[in-house]
Amino acid sequence: MVRNFLFHRISPDRDPLWDPMDPELFDKCLKLICRNYEVITIEDIPHAKLHEQTATISFDDGYKDNIEIALPILEKHNIKASFYVATDCIDKQIPTWTYYLEHLFKNTEKTDLDLRFDYLPEDMRVKQLPDYNARIAYVRKLKPILKNLSLAQRWEIVMYVQSVYTDVQKPDVMMNWHDLKKLRDLGHPIGSHTKSHVMLGHITDETRLIDELKGSRDRIFEMLGEHPKTISYPIGSYNEKVIEMSKQCGYIAGLAVKQDVYVPGRDSIFEIPRIELYNESWWKTKLRISNSLEKIKKVLRYK
Ligand SMILES: [Zn+2]
Repeated sequence: MVRNFLFHRISPDRDPLWDPMDPELFDKCLKLICRNYEVITIEDIPHAKLHEQTATISFDDGYKDNIEIALPILEKHNIKASFYVATDCIDKQIPTWTYYLEHLFKNTEKTDLDLRFDYLPEDMRVKQLPDYNARIAYVRKLKPILKNLSLAQRWEIVMYVQSVYTDVQKPDVMMNWHDLKKLRDLGHPIGSHTKSHVMLGHITDETRLIDELKGSRDRIFEMLGEHPKTISYPIGSYNEKVIEMSKQCGYIAGLAVKQDVYVPGRDSIFEIPRIELYNESWWKTKLRISNSLEKIKKVLRYK
């Protein structure tokens, strides 16, 4: 069995909406993982000899703190991690739409926002958000609603907010191709996280699905001279069609987000679960690492 640990951002800066993991906690996690597990890369899973105590480390989205802050800690523990990037986000140097939307609401000083699109629920159609707290509360509610809109509607709103909050600078938080090449050259595999960080399970148009799967694969090949072997489904969204097309596009494994261990033979190699670790207390993190937190939750549920 394999425990696959997933991280996103590692940074000492605190964030009220999506808190990155503190570097000290990340260091403690790696120390514990190294002590108890043999760490291989996800790309090794299909051909490695797996045993009870095998683990992998991966990062999604391609934030700059991955190379600036996480890499030295990975090197200290002599661990190779896999990095999954949405190629449009790297090309355009813009983070995922969820991050970007939050960034706009967090950093503006503006109070007016005439957000009255008819596809938004009525209580979400606002004219003004008077202060920081109101903006944070609003974007927290808005994000899950946007996840269920069409891509075009979602971008219409994100672009509209951007056009109003002109006082906000574009966030400089993404790695570039040079960074990814450096990681790759150091032995850290680079994988696909689609082109536009789309929820693959929601795409019904096959051409568009192929564009996300193959387009990102081709782009990584173009920039790094090597095809990515694995695909990480953004927001853990996939279905049978996504798995089938991923195989056809040449991937050898697909990664989900599910707080569970991977058991070869039981689990499909295109549904490898990953345990996400967050910036939370050490006891809770330790339980997540040993997968006990999920076991405890299960017992409580069946009580
Ligand atoms: Zn992602």
